[in-house]
Amino acid sequence: MSLLAEPDSSAVTVRAAAKINLYLGVGRAREDGFHPLETVYQAIGLYDDVTVTDAPEWSVHTAADAGIDLAAVPDGDANIAVRAGRALTAHHDLGLTARIQIHKGIPVAGGMAGGSADAAATLVALDRLWGLETSDDDLLAIAARLGSDVPFALIGGTALGSGRGELVTPVADATELWWVVVPHPVGLPTPGVYRHFDVLAERGAIVATEPRVPPDLLDALAAGESEALGPLLANDLAAPAYDLRPDLSELRGRLEAVGSDAVLLSGSGPTHLMLFDDVERARAAAADLIEADIVHWLAPGPVAGCHVIDLL
Ligand code: ATP
Repeated sequence: MSLLAEPDSSAVTVRAAAKINLYLGVGRAREDGFHPLETVYQAIGLYDDVTVTDAPEWSVHTAADAGIDLAAVPDGDANIAVRAGRALTAHHDLGLTARIQIHKGIPVAGGMAGGSADAAATLVALDRLWGLETSDDDLLAIAARLGSDVPFALIGGTALGSGRGELVTPVADATELWWVVVPHPVGLPTPGVYRHFDVLAERGAIVATEPRVPPDLLDALAAGESEALGPLLANDLAAPAYDLRPDLSELRGRLEAVGSDAVLLSGSGPTHLMLFDDVERARAAAADLIEADIVHWLAPGPVAGCHVIDLL
């Protein structure tokens, strides 16, 4: 985004952050099957790095940090990074192709939009590799067609999301938060969680109203009142996710016993997030999780969206 053209680079690496939802309000499914959302996204410090180089055909190659299972990450066109590359070349009516190398630090199928991060990073990296100078508006439009979370992955920081989540507006955020991120080895596919949301709404077990972000949350972010955030965080997908996966409710109980400002399910799960307004308390909780043999990472938030970290 807003990068100067440098078409003679032979490899470009772009870093993209994981997203969490500080608030995820979900309404009843629309006629087209999509659920209207109102959400507050935040980019936090777990990253995927995407390196692109010219190649005679599209290909994708994946590696990962310890603790991240790559089994569910598809090859070829099924990988959203390749779809992003094809969408960018189609937009410019070009026949170019590239090799895409992804190093994943964002858990797969963890409700942290790692695939969307890869798509966004691929758009920015190829734009730079080929000196395309795609406008920010065009990049955001291409991103929105690739997936609801891809536009936010481009901009990062903290933002309000609406529509299907693809309409993003940055919001003022003066907080400096620390998140203890607790992944789960068994993924929870997002579409199944939305389907179960509908089942529970149909049964009257949950009330799906017009989603609306609480103004108090936006005010606390703008004022930098980190300590006020805990009770304002919410996720409408938590009820269907826990109903599908009682083991996750049990894990949540264990995390609540450790102590934090809030425990939150990340998006559609299965990753959990523990909020801290102070890094020392976050480190102390992380030490307790080590004792309890619970895998976790420590990540600050908010952090930047996609940015170039290496040019060769
Ligand atoms: P969603 O974005 O649907 O909410 P998520 O954030 O829980 O999902 P992702 O890591 O983005 O999880 O992966 C969702 C699914 O997308 C994976 O199960 C995988 O099959 C598919 N996928 C396609 N491309 C990628 C990619 N580059 N990285 C990870 N998953 C990918």
